Amino acid sequence: MTVNAEAIRSENDKKLSEALLNDPLVKKVNEQIAKAEEENPYTLRRRLLSTSVRLSPRMAPGLHKMAAECVEKLALDTPLELYAFPSPQYNAMCFKPEEGRLFVMFASSLLEGFDEGELRFVVGHELGHHAYRHHDVPIGYILRGNTRPDPRLALSLFTWSRYAEISADRAGAHCAHDLESVSRALFKLASGLSGGTIEFNLQDFLDQVDDMQVLDHKPGEGAPKEDWFSTHPFSPLRVKALVLFNESEFAGGKASQAELESGVRELMGLMEPSYLEGRTNAAEAMRRLLFAAAVLVANADGEMSEQEAEIFERFFGPGAVQEDWNIEAIEASLDDRMEQVSKLATEAQQIQILRDLCLVARAEGHTTPEERAVLKRLARGLGLGDSVVEQTLSASVELD
Ligand SMILES: [Zn+2]
Repeated sequence: MTVNAEAIRSENDKKLSEALLNDPLVKKVNEQIAKAEEENPYTLRRRLLSTSVRLSPRMAPGLHKMAAECVEKLALDTPLELYAFPSPQYNAMCFKPEEGRLFVMFASSLLEGFDEGELRFVVGHELGHHAYRHHDVPIGYILRGNTRPDPRLALSLFTWSRYAEISADRAGAHCAHDLESVSRALFKLASGLSGGTIEFNLQDFLDQVDDMQVLDHKPGEGAPKEDWFSTHPFSPLRVKALVLFNESEFAGGKASQAELESGVRELMGLMEPSYLEGRTNAAEAMRRLLFAAAVLVANADGEMSEQEAEIFERFFGPGAVQEDWNIEAIEASLDDRMEQVSKLATEAQQIQILRDLCLVARAEGHTTPEERAVLKRLARGLGLGDSVVEQTLSASVELD
């Protein structure tokens, strides 16, 4: 199957960037950037020409040939200029085009320490950022700018950025067409090792992700906070995401696009807050169930109390409480929501929902038989057993 660059772009990168491009603050910053560029055009190329070394086709014929092949594979039509800058740290970057020229920069150490297959991945990755117009979301300007983004926007910028890297990695893998080289390139980038004294082993590198998964599946614990605010997915996760890509229909494997994307979302969930903000299918199903069950618990004894409303809004945001909920419809949808969660979430995640629900049930400091009945219905529906409810209710629970 022949694939084009757009077809292999990560689904969440597409979705999240679409939403971000419509965000008022993102729009405002983009307008400011456009205005500054109009007043002072072509500053980037001028700066590159005076600080880095342009690699002409005569100086770097191999690199130019490779870049031309990547350009063709990704169906780009912007002429390239390649630059090197002195740095012991393996790094490469790509800038927004100026005067119809696209600039790709390489650290000197990377050009000398990476073999052809590894370089091909790096070039494809950088060109991927351009092919997917990732520069249209000015994440750096927004996060460093004067107008501080609200936490929700900041979180979506970081989450999007990690999926943008996944897209660029796929573009790189598509160009390199050799998983071993690609993984070695990511290993070198992450470790700074050149391969002289340390021998790379793909399986061992991937085992690191399994260990992360074991640690993150403790009930009630999402990924550590520093992970949420990371622009790049952790390298072994990137390799694992590429293994999934390699096993998908895009690389001649069996997995469908939907299977690929849901596998990647599960992996990336390891770096996301909790299911309340997570972008995985499991997180979405868990939110839907928590929402419905929380409405039912809060209304179990007549009306939603002020304390219940307050807890509810801590989960779902200010203004989430409505006057005219259709309780019967929500009630009727509960089985379906439970089935989705049973299918998509781990047992630890299911217990997490119950735990969060207990907060609503205990909002007034005690629970009523009606509230406990809803909790038990949920426990049974998820196949967890009644005892989980009693255990969870008696344990001290804190909102994350
Ligand atoms: Zn990148």
